[in-house]
Amino acid sequence: MLRQVAEGVLIHASEFMHSNAVVVQGRAGVLLIDPGVTGSEIACLANDLRELGQPVVAGFSTHPHWDHLLWHAPLGASPRYGTARCAATVRDRLSDAGAKARIAALIPPDIAEQVPLDLLGVISGLPAETAQIPWDGPQVRIIEHQAHAPGHAALLIEERGVLVAGDMLSDVLIPMLDLNDTADPIEDYLAALRLLEGVAGAVDVVVPGHGSIGGADQVHARIDQDRAYVHALRDAQVPSDPRVGPSATYGKDWVPGVHARQLQRLARRRERDGTPG
Ligand SMILES: [Zn+2]
Repeated sequence: MLRQVAEGVLIHASEFMHSNAVVVQGRAGVLLIDPGVTGSEIACLANDLRELGQPVVAGFSTHPHWDHLLWHAPLGASPRYGTARCAATVRDRLSDAGAKARIAALIPPDIAEQVPLDLLGVISGLPAETAQIPWDGPQVRIIEHQAHAPGHAALLIEERGVLVAGDMLSDVLIPMLDLNDTADPIEDYLAALRLLEGVAGAVDVVVPGHGSIGGADQVHARIDQDRAYVHALRDAQVPSDPRVGPSATYGKDWVPGVHARQLQRLARRRERDGTPG
């Protein structure tokens, strides 16, 4: 079921990790951002769009993690994009014969069989200096940063006041840092939050890749909450963050483990090379 969150911007929710697919209406069809997770959900979305008479004319993946790279034949064969760095990472990770099996192993077993991997990651990288998604619709500004994954991009649809945050600014998941691909994951994450803060004034609706849609009041609140978490992580303090503690509304049984692992890996990096993070 599609739900409108701003003029010409609709959300299709997935049961898996509170995921949100985003549909932006253009002149001749829609831009589809991070389509969803299971085959039946994506088929449902394709069906909803067909009923609206809206073909998909472009796709975009916010970052190179499997749950943001899926696609399904009923959505059609429009061009699909990501940042150059996102596309290069996908190419790299999918380059060998065992890649799909490795990705399948990352998918929770209860849904693994329902996730179509045939069209996983078939995206073109937009050259690094590309400021907007090339398509016939409202301008969609690409705000690339290095935080959660290589080539991660948030998208700002300024005319509609919507920020599509990818895997940043979630109300249910703590910031998950990219601890593999960057020299200073803490500072990179803080820089990304500053970048989002720089456009916050233009945002009435924030759509996280996982979690609930936030209004204008939520934009700064979520940036502050993420920053406080990253500071706590940096200083190896116990974060006073409702997403990790016993009051958490989601992922009580595994988010604390993610937090503990991030602490551990940062400590190990620090020991290894003496860098701050
Ligand atoms: Zn992700």
